Amino acid sequence: MATTENATWWARTHGADGDVLVAYFSMEFGVETRLAIYSGGLGVLAGDHLKAAADLDVPLVGVGLFYRGGYFVQGVSGEGRQTEKYEELDPEALGLRREVEVEVDLGGEVVTAGVWRYDVGSVPLYLLDVPWVTDALYGGDRRHRIRQELLLGVGGVRALHALGIEPSVYHVNEGHSAFLTIERARMLVEAGRSTEDALEQIRHTTVFTTHTPVPAGNEVFGDDLVVRYVGSLAESAGISNEQLLALGRSDDTDGFGLTPLALRLSAHANGVSQLHGDVAREMWQGLWPGREAPIDAITNGVHLGTWLAPELAELLRDSGVEPDAPPAWANWPAARTLDSGALWRVHAARKQRLAELAGLDPERLTIGFARRFATYKRAGLVYSDLERLLALPVQVVVAGKAHPQDGPGKDVMQQIVELSHGAAAGRLVFLEDYDIELAQTIIPGCDIWLNTPRRPHEASGTSGMKAAINGVLNLSVLDGWWAEAYDSAYGWAIEGTTDEADATELYKLLEQQVVPRFEARDAWLEMMKASIAGLAPRFSMARTVIEYADRYYVPATRGA
Ligand SMILES: *Cc1c(COP(=O)(O)O)cnc(C)c1O
Repeated sequence: MATTENATWWARTHGADGDVLVAYFSMEFGVETRLAIYSGGLGVLAGDHLKAAADLDVPLVGVGLFYRGGYFVQGVSGEGRQTEKYEELDPEALGLRREVEVEVDLGGEVVTAGVWRYDVGSVPLYLLDVPWVTDALYGGDRRHRIRQELLLGVGGVRALHALGIEPSVYHVNEGHSAFLTIERARMLVEAGRSTEDALEQIRHTTVFTTHTPVPAGNEVFGDDLVVRYVGSLAESAGISNEQLLALGRSDDTDGFGLTPLALRLSAHANGVSQLHGDVAREMWQGLWPGREAPIDAITNGVHLGTWLAPELAELLRDSGVEPDAPPAWANWPAARTLDSGALWRVHAARKQRLAELAGLDPERLTIGFARRFATYKRAGLVYSDLERLLALPVQVVVAGKAHPQDGPGKDVMQQIVELSHGAAAGRLVFLEDYDIELAQTIIPGCDIWLNTPRRPHEASGTSGMKAAINGVLNLSVLDGWWAEAYDSAYGWAIEGTTDEADATELYKLLEQQVVPRFEARDAWLEMMKASIAGLAPRFSMARTVIEYADRYYVPATRGA
């Protein structure tokens, strides 16, 4: 990225820290739509992390899995039920290049994994591939899951070694890849270190980011499975079965948790919003009896180059903002003085595009809700009093996938699909197969971005950031990122304490604030500008990656 001196952020800030090299491990990466190896927010965040690291020139490589069948393509049956189809991904057509092969023992069965390389700008992403193991993302039983996670953690460390890459820091992005710590211990012990020494070194050079307080996101395996699949690897690091199992234990879960394992073996751990940091500290307090859990917070961001609508980026550049530069250099305050007419023309064009896709009215106040159908996100809240909703001059667009094993999530989706063909036809549209590309059309094409999680279950919630940077106003429960971002200049906060109270609040806000403000166009445009100018720099992924680099990557490399 060019600055006045033509040096990158990394060169200017950490040019002397020549030893830093970060290996960023994640179970999913959402870099582009066609490379369908992501399911939702976690993957898109990981993809955005790589893109921002490339922009800033942070020395970083990504490590993940290449799922032959990707994540499922969503359809809707005649009854409105989600259907799932897995489409074979073609690595060559996606621009992947085969680099090396490594062997991994998966419970007594030695497999050979191919390692593909995919470039995200200057950042290489290495993807391991054993067709019968990496058949699909989040498919299969517990045995299948532990095999995938061993392949990611253990195979990933070996792949980097085989490639001659020597990371100074390992970033475990969510617990799925936490077995990498055991493989690193084995390597250090085989090179002559004591087990204790090895674990201490690993702790100092591991960064762990936890992404959700929801149990389904915190992987737990039965002890038997862990002993069977990880026991002999741990033994070669001098770790007995008993010691291994102790690393994954916590008060409130039976079995072996990857979050406790990662927390015990990382000196740098964080939640993904300030509120989530508090929630995670409380949740994992039991691992640190007698003192505060050392879990900090780095709030997520989104990659502006991916999520800022191109027309708006152009308007910003014309107005003296450099949206592609690191926040401190980009002159975001200038967005407050955007020309109102020009901003509305940009927004009207985005609304038109969505209206055409969805069969909606391009003029009407449009409310968007698109994210995974997990029940805690309460997608049904806004329809809980359908008559009251339909009395308003609004239309709603909904999209999202339910996890293949999430029956209740599929039920919610089915109810919405039924409404969209029945009582709410013409005013509610469900768009199938939510992915990055669809998100790029839906989010900037709305006026309001609705978010109704049951507090405090939403750790961050990045789609609201994608909305905010585009001047799409957030109407959201004060959870995740919105708990720290909310200001009445930018949007609205739903502050109930029960489902019923939240629904009542939501309707009141729509009736008394949102609709009248939308009709007073000038006041609305002022909020759009405030949202862009105030929130784009704070919730840009560049700001997030800069925080990881300054607070974790550089100090961990120096042995701090
Ligand atoms: C941003 C994004 C998400 C995450 O949305 P949340 O608000 O965090 O739930 C999920 N899926 C896709 C395709 C996205 O682009």
